[in-house]
Amino acid sequence: METEESILKRQIVRSMKILHRRGLMTGVGGNASVRMEGSGEVWITPSGVYKPELKPSDLVKIDLDGRVIEGILKPSMEWHFHTAIYRRRADINAVLHTHSPFSTGLALADVKLRPITLEAATMLADVPILPFRYPGTEELGRQVGEAILGRRALILQNHGVIAVGFDMIEALSTIEILEEVSIMTFIASQYGEIQEIPPDQIELIKKLYRI
Ligand code: 13P
Ligand code: ZN
Repeated sequence: METEESILKRQIVRSMKILHRRGLMTGVGGNASVRMEGSGEVWITPSGVYKPELKPSDLVKIDLDGRVIEGILKPSMEWHFHTAIYRRRADINAVLHTHSPFSTGLALADVKLRPITLEAATMLADVPILPFRYPGTEELGRQVGEAILGRRALILQNHGVIAVGFDMIEALSTIEILEEVSIMTFIASQYGEIQEIPPDQIELIKKLYRI
């Protein structure tokens, strides 16, 4: 029978193929990790390789200090923020980072997401744009570790996005929804005023979904 660990590794590999196919990341941009629930051990994508072609055996196991436990390749240069998230959020077991073009592009022009769909009003009500920090640095890790509290997605100015989830499916959905809402926002902004869901309806939605 397949072990829990090899299922998680397959999920990372699959997520990179899905995100690349959807145009949410280039082959070398972006990365993914999963934490084995309740543990300090993380499987993460290797650095600088073409991620849609990854095999489970290419993944690297690290601890929360970025030390390699298993694997021969170098872990993602963004291990700082992946581990910072797991340290701060016991409820999170999957982290995805992409350079989603519409989500990142809107942030470059300081366009904020508004409650234009059910998901935008509930899941993406609070997605901050973090000021630019150099990729792969401890400082970026610290900034992300602070900002991720109570949130499921962040935008890194001049860089990309981060989404977190209890599992990989949750993190994948958030990346997809963030880009969908960003594309809708972009399209609507070409034609004029953007229509939002009325506030009383949002309140109703929150009650219905117990948010
Ligand atoms: P890695 O290949 O090291 O994961 O870097 C890609 C990236 O997106 C850096 O921000
Ligand atoms: Zn990046």
